[in-house]
Amino acid sequence: MSINWKEKAAQVKANLDGRAFINGVRVNAVDNDTFACISPLDGTKLIDIARCKKADVDNAVTVARAAFEDGRWAHMSPKRRKEILIKFADLIVANAHELAVTETLDMGKPVSNALAVDVNAAQNTIRWFGEAIDKVYDEVAPTPRDSLALITREPVGVVAAIVPWNYPLLMTSWKIAPALATGNSVILKPSEKSPLTAFRLAELALEAGIPAGVFNVLPGYGHEAGAAMAEHMDIDCVAFTGSTAVGKRIMAAAANSNLKRAWMELGGKSPNIVFADAPNLDEAAAAAAGNVFYNQGESCNAPTRLYVEASIKDEFMAKVAAHVASFKPADPLDGDTTMGAIVDDIQMNSVLKYIESGKNEGAELIAGGSRARVETGGYYIEPTIFIAKPEMTIVREEIFGPVLAAMTFETEAEAIALANDTEYGLQAAVWTANISKAHRVARAIKAGTVHVNQYNDDDITVPFGGYKQSGNGRDKSLHALDKYTELKTTWIKIDEA
Ligand code: NAD
Repeated sequence: MSINWKEKAAQVKANLDGRAFINGVRVNAVDNDTFACISPLDGTKLIDIARCKKADVDNAVTVARAAFEDGRWAHMSPKRRKEILIKFADLIVANAHELAVTETLDMGKPVSNALAVDVNAAQNTIRWFGEAIDKVYDEVAPTPRDSLALITREPVGVVAAIVPWNYPLLMTSWKIAPALATGNSVILKPSEKSPLTAFRLAELALEAGIPAGVFNVLPGYGHEAGAAMAEHMDIDCVAFTGSTAVGKRIMAAAANSNLKRAWMELGGKSPNIVFADAPNLDEAAAAAAGNVFYNQGESCNAPTRLYVEASIKDEFMAKVAAHVASFKPADPLDGDTTMGAIVDDIQMNSVLKYIESGKNEGAELIAGGSRARVETGGYYIEPTIFIAKPEMTIVREEIFGPVLAAMTFETEAEAIALANDTEYGLQAAVWTANISKAHRVARAIKAGTVHVNQYNDDDITVPFGGYKQSGNGRDKSLHALDKYTELKTTWIKIDEA
């Protein structure tokens, strides 16, 4: 049965509510201020959103602190909390179409991707951490017989989650699932560019049985609501996903306030190394294009620096360029669309400026290079490929749009040096049939994830995060629990009888 996404979008638009979600109820900002939520599909206003600031943050922290201290969630039995998080995941599934279309209206990605990837991965993340609640054990240390040392995990308390706009539901679920699973109270600040699905998530969490006050949503600007959270003296942990520049500000604010735990998932400029002996050049080319153009290029882990062994450059780049045709910007509410709208006009103009810099610095444009016109209006960019040089701006800086910069190398050592010549270290890929070479390169690259002969594999069971200025800490997998828990040692004396 095909879904009528336009009809669904009209229903969603008619029911939007832009107020904050504090203590289980929808509220305006204390000063009643708002900002407009604009759809990138066509540039029209969807709704006014509460513009929360310091006073609203203070209110949310008071509520979240009370909820944490009285143990209404943290002290609930692990079995019951597990059941509630699983119900939360089930409710996301039950409302999947609504959530997908809301995400698309808000940030522009193709609705089929929003449904298959974002909504599905969000529910899976919440389900997986819910399942973990009554399966992760604490430890007993190997101490002498006259003592017992218990090593237990305790929730940190009040967690602020600040997330970006590129995968709103998914980035939110990567934060709130392990934070809630470990018994914390959460205050989520969605991006001002894409706040809508966060409200719906909070409503579904309440419906599932997460007590009021445990999961709160404060929409607002980064320099207002976000900064007030980073500086707050009664927030115990800030879990951030976003740009490296803002991450540095948040870490400084955390250090200068109460030394709250500060976890950073930041930008990337990931290298993709294709050796002439790659087992399948067609697959390598499809991945090289697909992982840069997917989500309009708005992915932190997109392999935007492509390094091709010089002997296969022309053959390989022809194969990569052939994939551009399958990423045609079009109406994101059409179920067949593979490339949607850029999140807003500011981001579109920033990407177009990078494209101009590529042209001005002498990069060879082999595909795209312009704004795309789609009948809906809105903000769209053609999938763009340059043959570039390592010192060019389009190779050095994260563009966060559909722009691939390709270069060549002659030797394995040169490929490794080029791949590591970046301030980032999020992901990387190497394509070769030589298993020793694959291992050597994977070991030498400073990145949180290295793919060998593929780029698509991903799973909630593995950690996600970066080396260097791509951040610290890891989302996903049981390692994520470390971010939201303190380790406590309890020594108990045992008298000999
Ligand atoms: P951004 O840093 O501009 O904003 C991210 C969030 O921080 C938003 O909610 C914003 O309102 C808030 N913010 C802005 N200024 C703030 C301040 N001074 N104090 C507190 N909060 C503030 O990033 P963006 O443009 O929303 O997202 C794109 C960036 O996110 C890219 O760099 C991308 O690589 C990165 N990203 C990283 C990952 C990862 O897992 N490593 C995943 C997705 C996106």
